Amino acid sequence: MANYYIGAHVSASGGVENAPMNASAIGATAFALFTKNQRQWLAKPLSEGEIARFKEACVKYGYTAEQILPHDSYLINLGNPDDEALEKSRQSFYEEMVRCEQLGLDRLNFHPGSHLRVISEEASLDRIAESINLALARTQGVTAVIENTAGQGSNLGYRFEHLRYLIDRVEDKSRVGVCLDTCHTFAAGYDLSSMLQCEATFAEFDRIVGFEYLRGMHLNDAMKPLGSRVDRHTPLGEGMIGWDCFRYIMTDSRFCNMPLILETPDENRWAEEIATLRQFADEGRR
Ligand SMILES: [Zn+2]
Ligand SMILES: [Zn+2]
Repeated sequence: MANYYIGAHVSASGGVENAPMNASAIGATAFALFTKNQRQWLAKPLSEGEIARFKEACVKYGYTAEQILPHDSYLINLGNPDDEALEKSRQSFYEEMVRCEQLGLDRLNFHPGSHLRVISEEASLDRIAESINLALARTQGVTAVIENTAGQGSNLGYRFEHLRYLIDRVEDKSRVGVCLDTCHTFAAGYDLSSMLQCEATFAEFDRIVGFEYLRGMHLNDAMKPLGSRVDRHTPLGEGMIGWDCFRYIMTDSRFCNMPLILETPDENRWAEEIATLRQFADEGRR
């Protein structure tokens, strides 16, 4: 069955078990969440009770693993040039993978990393690839989902070639995937502002990376112009990308059966944005 799973990055405050309810309340058929505080290194391990309550809530509100896209902590930099800092990031990333595994989730979305202007892009990408391999070797069932970035600062992953470079170096190809963020894609210089531009950009993505690796999308409009390399999200239809891109995605089955996640700034509008996207999908089916 081809389903468009549409949702947002919802709050898990008070415990991961609250995320499915928060998603359901806005009419979402997908959601993203942090499985721990995203601004702290340390977290208490998940208890048996929390794990059970999360799984029960997912059943109650109708979410399966292919509708859920957990996001890792912003502190983690798997391409860190400093050995000690890199080790800390690798340990934390491994722990996040374990949390996903415990919660019955099958993918973990992360930003690849930054070279911090200390080492070359290639040397940092090599560190990221090795970081992924180390985490996959110690875990089971969870796919490492690399998100493309806007290329702000020294962040890597703003070229499709970076994603390809990493995938080429990951030993277990069955557990590596990518998440495309529309705002990041546009800010990185890939135009999405018309149906034709979407066609061309996604064809290039398919040629360089391959749709078989796509495990989720982040749907955000972009405040800054094409190629700005600035990561600033706006509500859908209010940025430089515009509605065509989102209409395109909601009527192309290559984006089915994976979480399509809003990270737009005004959470009071998520229900409305989800309803609009749902309408595009329904119109496309006719
Ligand atoms: Zn994103
Ligand atoms: Zn962003």
